[in-house]
Amino acid sequence: MFKKVLIANRGEIALRIQRACRELGIKSVVVYSEADRDAKYVRLADEAVCIGPAPSAQSYLSMPAIIATAEVTDAEAIHPGYGFLSENADFAERVERSGFTFIGPTPESIRMMGDKVSAKQAMIRAGVPCVPGSEGALPDDPKEIIRIARSVGYPVIIKAAGGGGGRGMRVVHTEAALVHAVQTTRAEAGAAFGNPEVYMEKFLENPRHVEIQVLADTFKNAVWLGERDCSMQRRHQKIIEEAPAPGIPRRNIEKVGDRCAAACKKMGYRGAGTFEFLYENGEFYFIEMNTRVQVEHPVTELVTGIDIVQQQIKIAAGEKLPFTQRQIEMRGHAIECRINAEDPVKFIPSPGRITMWHAPGGPGVRVDSHAYTNYFVPPNYDSMIGKIIVHGDTREQALARMRIALSETVVEGIQTNIPLHRELMADAKFIEGGTSIHYLEGWMAAHKR
Ligand code: ADP
Repeated sequence: MFKKVLIANRGEIALRIQRACRELGIKSVVVYSEADRDAKYVRLADEAVCIGPAPSAQSYLSMPAIIATAEVTDAEAIHPGYGFLSENADFAERVERSGFTFIGPTPESIRMMGDKVSAKQAMIRAGVPCVPGSEGALPDDPKEIIRIARSVGYPVIIKAAGGGGGRGMRVVHTEAALVHAVQTTRAEAGAAFGNPEVYMEKFLENPRHVEIQVLADTFKNAVWLGERDCSMQRRHQKIIEEAPAPGIPRRNIEKVGDRCAAACKKMGYRGAGTFEFLYENGEFYFIEMNTRVQVEHPVTELVTGIDIVQQQIKIAAGEKLPFTQRQIEMRGHAIECRINAEDPVKFIPSPGRITMWHAPGGPGVRVDSHAYTNYFVPPNYDSMIGKIIVHGDTREQALARMRIALSETVVEGIQTNIPLHRELMADAKFIEGGTSIHYLEGWMAAHKR
């Protein structure tokens, strides 16, 4: 096992990784920007090194600064967390070439999944169900594009091969708008992602977002750890996640889960990963794979009892998965609410000093957060300041525990989305379960948000 791991991230996930290291008896080094000088995880770390000013490009995205820090602190491995450099194949390559272990998949896997066209082709080869659409990137010939759209059937969605974060997509309802939409998406994708390639999919009108968590070791063992329903989204940003997904027959989930694990073996995938699907009318359709730990991983940890971050580290250290698929048991129900520092009505970030922070507690309540009373939320990064995660024997109990947890939570000095979470936990449709990815935006429009 490693003696020392460098954490190339910030915020709650830096603290989460640090805790995993501590439990495994590993020393941790955190890197931080000038804006995060007073962060709790910086003070709690065994070692902390300031690597640059607040802008991410000069700190958390600076590969030379991170690798140099690993060198001077004698770290053996680098955990990239999520966001920042976590899905950057060049970074993974540079880490390994510099003699460190990258806690994540191989650069080749990251590269393949980072290009949505090659990812989809790999999934088709591995027998994972995909959204019907073009076979690979769209050609230049307008007649050919029109022919493909007719065979897929309108509405269609044009997506950038290099897209991410909900950007680089355009829905097309009519043939008249098609060719122009393809050209515009191509131009935007070229400018934004450095890759003008686009592909086409059938646009699913009212799907849910359901994803499968996987773990694979370097001995060709792969398991899936159940699913997460992340349909409560605004502008493609998830805000509530839960496991298991309400109302979907276990047989359907097992079938797709087994396919994901088999795909990992076929691809020689290693580490943690998530297969994201849209789910509509009883069918799963792959949309993309994330080759890193996800924000919402704790709901899976609470229902399986498996520490995903520790498993990532153990896999990277060359250990075998300590369980088989049959030994993985799902127990009860877990829900996560992401707490964002933002205006709950206008949804603009609300950075600043937290004058009062009180986290909830009690049976089945977990809080993953780097915030504290007097913490200054810097304006430079993502607005998420923590996550409240609850577990119960049933979904009803988990909902009740989340309501209590939210009622106990106090955050003063900045605005947060806690009032929105309180309302949603009392919403009849959400309580019923199974709402689509459009539900939250519809709800907000109806509530004049
Ligand atoms: P990103 O990498 O930008 O997150 P995804 O491919 O995961 O891109 O898609 C993001 C979101 O866009 C999905 O969660 C869904 O809301 C919507 N979306 C993507 N593809 C489709 C599709 N074929 N039909 C309907 N909605 C889609």
